[in-house]
Amino acid sequence: PAKVSVFGFPLHLVDNAPEWLLMQQRDGRGQHVITLNSEMVMLAERTPEFADVLHRADLVIPDGSGVILYLKLHGLSVPRLPGIEFAEALLRLANEAPQPKRVFFYGAAPGVAEKVAERWHRELPNLKIVGVQSGYHDAATEVALIEKLKETQPHIIFVALGVPRQEYWIDRHRHICPEAIWVGVGGSFDIWAG
Ligand code: UDP
Repeated sequence: PAKVSVFGFPLHLVDNAPEWLLMQQRDGRGQHVITLNSEMVMLAERTPEFADVLHRADLVIPDGSGVILYLKLHGLSVPRLPGIEFAEALLRLANEAPQPKRVFFYGAAPGVAEKVAERWHRELPNLKIVGVQSGYHDAATEVALIEKLKETQPHIIFVALGVPRQEYWIDRHRHICPEAIWVGVGGSFDIWAG
């Protein structure tokens, strides 16, 4: 996609990110999606490891209003799509796919991801939710989680561990599901669970 620079970090311009992602996936390309806000830009400026993750991500789209304002000051007007709304749009589009899309929810306090799965199963019954895992667990559970992801090869994996833990986790583990769309969604599970 077209790319601009925000304080030296990449930001991609796509008209319809969910559509673009599912099209890439059809061609066998997995994606790490980052919804960029000013806190992440500031973190990247003082943390080279996080900057590297931003540069390695396949799709960085604007989330926070600070990033939108920065773009506007540079003559680019892009609509604001908060990360949680982008994630919902992706789920809704995936629900329309002719073949059921497999979805995994990882993160948040115990019980929350289950509630999120129930909610989306009710609203979007064509999705195939293949697993959930809370974000507070021991090392053995992490091993089991990785096995489960390998086995189920979800099309979409939401990771709600907060910034920057979720970005680091995705960057480190995305090779186990190379064709998945991986999205760090911060506190979205807590909101979806109500
Ligand atoms: N979280 C988690 N494991 C952790 C730390 C945080 O699963 O070790 C979850 C937390 O329960 C919450 C989310 O990560 O659901 C972070 O939400 P927050 O709004 O703080 O994230 P931000 O959007 O600021 O990155």
